[in-house]
Amino acid sequence: MTMSALGEPCVLLKLGELVLKGKNRELFERRLVGNIRGALKEFDVKLDIRVRHGVIAIFLPEGTSVETAEAIARRVTEVPGLTWVHRAWRVAKDPDAVLKAAMELVGDTEQARRGATFRVRSRRRDKRFPLRSNEIDRLVGGEINERYGLPVDLTGAELTVSIEVDRDEVFVYTDGLPGLGGLPVGSSGRALALMSGGIDSPVAAYRMMRRGLHVDFLHFSGIPFTTSESIYKAYALARRLDRFQGKSRLWVVPFGKAQQSIRTSGQDRLAVIAQRRLMLKTAEEVAHRIRAEALITGDALGQVSSQTLANITAQDNAVDLPILRPLVGWDKTEIMAEARKIGTLEISELPDEDCCTLLAPRRAETRAKIEDLKAIERRLDAEELAVRLADSVQEYTI
Ligand code: ATP
Ligand code: MG
Repeated sequence: MTMSALGEPCVLLKLGELVLKGKNRELFERRLVGNIRGALKEFDVKLDIRVRHGVIAIFLPEGTSVETAEAIARRVTEVPGLTWVHRAWRVAKDPDAVLKAAMELVGDTEQARRGATFRVRSRRRDKRFPLRSNEIDRLVGGEINERYGLPVDLTGAELTVSIEVDRDEVFVYTDGLPGLGGLPVGSSGRALALMSGGIDSPVAAYRMMRRGLHVDFLHFSGIPFTTSESIYKAYALARRLDRFQGKSRLWVVPFGKAQQSIRTSGQDRLAVIAQRRLMLKTAEEVAHRIRAEALITGDALGQVSSQTLANITAQDNAVDLPILRPLVGWDKTEIMAEARKIGTLEISELPDEDCCTLLAPRRAETRAKIEDLKAIERRLDAEELAVRLADSVQEYTI
């Protein structure tokens, strides 16, 4: 593909809900651009990123290969806050140049080779451009129809040629990759996700990243009574999720001894909920230290006995910070499908020794009473223990 007729390669990004955010918009856009820069660091390419009306353009240096441009486009599809990612060409603001670029671009598609239906969709953000959008459509559409013999189909076209007239240039492109949607990571604040090695918690963390939270990860390992395997798994999960936000940190608390004291201090049937409350209290302490404003868990209502309504209530009661549970209304099959999509399922399915299996009673209480839990916690001196556990936390940067 020669670049002369096509113009300069670039990647054009469409923003989602951002467009609606009024005054905060500029702040959001700046954060989004920062996140995009972070995600593209791995490419070692000098990028010129510009924000337009509801659009971000990444201009690539002259001579950037088509492969690199495509890899960059694929990488940005993992950055929350974007609805579409287009590999586009930046063309001079002149109808002839636009027509030429569109013709060359279409001639190169597989749809043109097999005579697929097409349509042209133009948008004129700069009203000074000599042609109105329907005039551009007619000019370019007529020429494509004549030269390549492709039939027009305005509703079900197999090939859409998009032409966007901007202030300084025109963007021409034929296809796009769907983005993740959501909000730029960081625009909603910071939260701490309790991450086991299981399937649910990484999905929960991801869903909250997509709503603009920067997420730190906290894992409780059964050490010294289990191996370090669960830590490796948590680390692998955090690394996978780091693709969506960058600058991730994993915090690990050795929890085995605390579990042992829970086991010896109360009723067997309450052990799992007592343990979950101690995890939450510890998490709250860690959250204060890293300035996280909420906790995230992978709970889904009724999925297991610790997730009945009564037991969820008992967990909320253990801390003051809000506990976000994005999966509360999800079925396991839905969670698994999402885990597969974001690439955490295969990691979660690796075998490990979850610290929680150390404490699995024959019959777990489904209606834990808060008073009973508090009695256990008094015996444990749970508040003090949570502080000590938070002191023992180890940090791993991703
Ligand atoms: P998951 O698949 O996320 O492990 P689960 O279906 O196994 O969830 P539980 O074991 O009841 O459910 O855990 C509920 C939530 O508690 C988890 O989603 C996670 O947020 C938190 N949690 C459980 N175990 C741990 C752990 N070892 N370290 C950190 N968080 C944990
Ligand atoms: Mg689990």
